[in-house]
Amino acid sequence: MSDDLRDLYQEVILDHGRRPRNFRHPEAANRTAKGDNPLCGDRVSVYLEVGPDGIIRDAAFEGRGCAISTASASLMTETLKGKTEEEARALFRALRDMCTGHESDAESAAAGGAGEDDLDRLRVLSGVRNFPMRVKCATLPWQAVLAALAGDAKATTE
Ligand code: ZN
Repeated sequence: MSDDLRDLYQEVILDHGRRPRNFRHPEAANRTAKGDNPLCGDRVSVYLEVGPDGIIRDAAFEGRGCAISTASASLMTETLKGKTEEEARALFRALRDMCTGHESDAESAAAGGAGEDDLDRLRVLSGVRNFPMRVKCATLPWQAVLAALAGDAKATTE
């Protein structure tokens, strides 16, 4: 990775960490879950509105965490809108693979429904692979979304 690219990624993470997108609790949310990363102290609540067709219509979050977890949650909510549950799972696998240095797996996940634009957006977080303690910060919001989609905390806000 070039220095320029690393600086750009850093800038995006700081921007999303300071001004997170979709930091709110939508009234229409019908799937929610909490995530907790005691290693770092990150806590996140995710809110999804999933339509009868299985498409994620809205994604938002609230919580407190480090810049990485906040930026990851912010980027995640931007990525999830319009996706199916299956695509959300594929994106999570792709992000996890990027964060642990298994890019080729991330590319195979692309074939499973994740678009190249989505992968580019998430790739700004790939630098955490050099900081193993921070991988959980990046994956936490996604794990909360997977829990919400699996129905673990289904209908909390209904
Ligand atoms: Zn963290």
